[in-house]
Amino acid sequence: MLTKRSSGTAPRGHLARSLTAGTGKGVSRRGFLHGSGLAAGGMAALSALPAAMIRRAEAAGPIPGAETVTRKNICTHCSVGCTVIAEIQNGVWTGQEPGWESPISQGTHCAKGASVRELTTGERRVKYPLKLVDGEWKRISWDVAIEEIGNKLLEIRRTSGPDSVFWLGSAKFSNEGSYLFRKLAAFWGTNNVDHQARICHSTTVAGVANTWGYGAMTNSYNDIQNSKCLVLIGGNPAEAHPVSMQHMLRGKERNRAPFIVIDPRFTRTAAHATEYVRIRPGTDIPVVWGILWHVFEQGWEDKEYIRQRVYGMDQVRAEVKKWTPQEVERVSGVPGEQLKRVAEAMAKNRPSTLIWCMGATQKSVGTANVRAFSILQLALGNIGIEGGGANIYRGHCNVQGATDFGLDVSTLPSYYGLAEGAWKHFCRVWEVDYEWMKSRFASKALMEAKGIPTTRWFDAVLAKKEDVEQPDTLKAMLCFGHGGNTVTRMPEMVKGLEKLELLVIADPHPTTFASISGRKNGSYILPGCTQFETDGSRTCSNRSMQWGEKLVEPIFESKDDYTIIYLLAKKLGFADEMFKHITVEGTRPVPEDILREINRSCLSTGYTGQSPERLKLHMKHQADFDKITMRAESGPCKGEYYGLPWPCWGHPELKHPGSAILYDTSKHVMEGGGVFRARFGVEREGVSLLAEGSYSKGSEIQDGYPEFTMAVLRKLGWDKDLTAEEMRVIQAIGGDKIDEVSWQTDLSMGIIRVALKHGCSPHGNAKARAAAWNLPDPVPVHREPIYTPRKDLVSQYPAINDRRDFRLPQLAKSVQAGAVDKDVAGKFPFVLTSGRLVEYEGGGEETRSNRWLAELQQSMFAEINSKDAERLGIRNDAWVWVYGPENNAKVKVRALVTNRVGPGTVFMPFHFSGYWQGESRRAAYPPGTDPIVLGESANTVTTYGYDPVTFMQEAKVTLCRVEPA
Ligand code: SF4
Repeated sequence: MLTKRSSGTAPRGHLARSLTAGTGKGVSRRGFLHGSGLAAGGMAALSALPAAMIRRAEAAGPIPGAETVTRKNICTHCSVGCTVIAEIQNGVWTGQEPGWESPISQGTHCAKGASVRELTTGERRVKYPLKLVDGEWKRISWDVAIEEIGNKLLEIRRTSGPDSVFWLGSAKFSNEGSYLFRKLAAFWGTNNVDHQARICHSTTVAGVANTWGYGAMTNSYNDIQNSKCLVLIGGNPAEAHPVSMQHMLRGKERNRAPFIVIDPRFTRTAAHATEYVRIRPGTDIPVVWGILWHVFEQGWEDKEYIRQRVYGMDQVRAEVKKWTPQEVERVSGVPGEQLKRVAEAMAKNRPSTLIWCMGATQKSVGTANVRAFSILQLALGNIGIEGGGANIYRGHCNVQGATDFGLDVSTLPSYYGLAEGAWKHFCRVWEVDYEWMKSRFASKALMEAKGIPTTRWFDAVLAKKEDVEQPDTLKAMLCFGHGGNTVTRMPEMVKGLEKLELLVIADPHPTTFASISGRKNGSYILPGCTQFETDGSRTCSNRSMQWGEKLVEPIFESKDDYTIIYLLAKKLGFADEMFKHITVEGTRPVPEDILREINRSCLSTGYTGQSPERLKLHMKHQADFDKITMRAESGPCKGEYYGLPWPCWGHPELKHPGSAILYDTSKHVMEGGGVFRARFGVEREGVSLLAEGSYSKGSEIQDGYPEFTMAVLRKLGWDKDLTAEEMRVIQAIGGDKIDEVSWQTDLSMGIIRVALKHGCSPHGNAKARAAAWNLPDPVPVHREPIYTPRKDLVSQYPAINDRRDFRLPQLAKSVQAGAVDKDVAGKFPFVLTSGRLVEYEGGGEETRSNRWLAELQQSMFAEINSKDAERLGIRNDAWVWVYGPENNAKVKVRALVTNRVGPGTVFMPFHFSGYWQGESRRAAYPPGTDPIVLGESANTVTTYGYDPVTFMQEAKVTLCRVEPA
């Protein structure tokens, strides 16, 4: 159990002593469990412990004579954002305790968080730059590495154009690192820049942004304590977001709330459910429409809420009508009566919160799934209120921030998109000439065209030149903080790696990319440091920003992301332009300055009020924030929400408190209130898209209204409220089209300030869209997975038609039809799904290199139902081959015989790599950097299939065959 040694900020703890004692020595499993403060099984089952269960333990003494400095940072694993308190002695991180005052984590850590200190002492880190020479990793200097990498990039730029380089960023970056990396790609001249959100929640972002305006969790982990009913679909937070479980379980207990878990697998989270609904993978829409069928049938929908705040619900009704209990059961396997119970629980215990994660999003219908969930919550009137919401659990520690700052092939930072107006906005902020910026790109068309996403980069390497909509195929890839084994279709990925002319990996660990292919030359590894060795902010899943202090200097020869990005920009010849407004100390850009540039530019998401000074003040005064509302009740941050969750409007001096709950009309906009965003116009086919009679508290416009521009201000006569300086800036931006300057492009932020003064939201007040006419399926419809076990359903519920997007073809219907013709389901009779484990994070190279965590989970495995195992003659823990339907792919793993999965379903975790179709790749890692635990990658056997809106991969449902090995 975690141990609190003292009140307030904790000094040196029991974990510290154990870790220090273990440095460089073997540590037993028992020693780790005792030393790290974890009760065996406790973290796995419950994953975080309430304060009442914490007991006092033996204290450890400090290093004699050494001064101890205490610093705060944030766990670098998942998006919950638990505070880590580090004790530093002589520049070495020697002690760690969880942040007791953090309103989010409240003194808890899971196994991963409890062992993060290892990251800065781990001997398996990449220690210096490396280059692959004839298959051998050789040590080189930073100067040589940057010189050679830069020269090769410039050569590719000359011969193939800037779009032949793929810049793969990271959800492990700080916000400042994310923004800088996006800016680097822009100055290089390409939109081929992406990160992990593509493969976790790109469909969420697209789905919810297309419904009510912004692509993020609407409420918070803490607010779940206000929920009267908790519904979780496609998530397993007990393992993936362990500390969030304390809020969920408190909500369940405080409110005697029904806790409904919908999942193909009886997970460790489902073990806490009051109702468990097992579904066939890939049938989320039938199940959600099945719930909504009962809601409509019983008249449980919130009719007044729908009238005032929702567009297009009638179109949804027509679709939902088809999903009778009988049809839902036929397609999904869920009994109609059970879904009636779920619908009734949600309707009679309001508000209910709907929580989802990657089980729902990683599908070829991911965006449609998300839209269906959002519509269900709208029908029940659950969005924009305490205890309700769409609580979307993001993955990595800063995946929300990295998404917000445009590590995305389809947008510049803050979701401005790629149109000319967006580029001009950022050129103004960056003070670079728009024409110069345009000249960096192969063409204006490509400057404004979506790039190639991370799910498909290898297709763009392997394709014929004429099949990729850019001057040439991809020739080089630079990967910062991204595992190579989290993307489907690994056999093709390996071929893509082998064909690249240049591969650069910047990471604390070598990652799968470094070891999995047969490359002999043209690969470099740059030792990037962790976020504990630098400083900057990160945005957790609930949109709160937290500032992490640098705990120790980068270890060995590693450098932080800011420095590596600067060195590349300098070598590539545009550092002076790129860092015009960012102080560079030596070769290290100052993160506070980067955040100030973010504050000046990212108006559209409300990333403007969170100055470094305000964020640091919040970290210092964590104890002042309420543990449920997250609002400071006293102290210098009084009235503000913890971490100033976006939108935090206007200049920092305006003191906007942040928005704990999005679209909450019960509060004034200056107190965190809001309305649905008007981003799709004001009218559609004669029907108003603006809210009707619904507005946030204190609004002077007591009805819907469009987004604010100078034209709107003038019409209202509110332009007189602008200061002379604000008018000067607006005139400079607008020229002879001043009316077109909007709240998003007005760098004075005067339009925002005036809208707020009158109680209005700068982004307008619209209805949410139950029907989104710009999406392939305006109202979500069920489509069978590309590789479905139910051939009989394909003609009725086919995959979407083949199409092109993101510069590449997207096949769907033809691949599905081919699989039916070839009877793939007959040859591969199991449905394969995948997920996470509490011990590891993402691709797992970092956590599998951590000796404390490696102790806990030592083998890759596949869960198989006991009836199936018996039929196939497979014993628990025996080796089996799992075969996939493409590329003759196979993995050799241990069988975990369990009824967690139903008959006909196989589950594999996706954190493993280092084995390739039965063979160990340990020797391919640079010496001394191979993770302790290696295993086969689940994605070796996963298959083709992409969401049409975002090119999200279909990682959660395919087919496989299992045989004893
Ligand atoms: Fe908290 Fe997530 Fe880190 Fe665990 S992994 S300590 S839940 S932030």
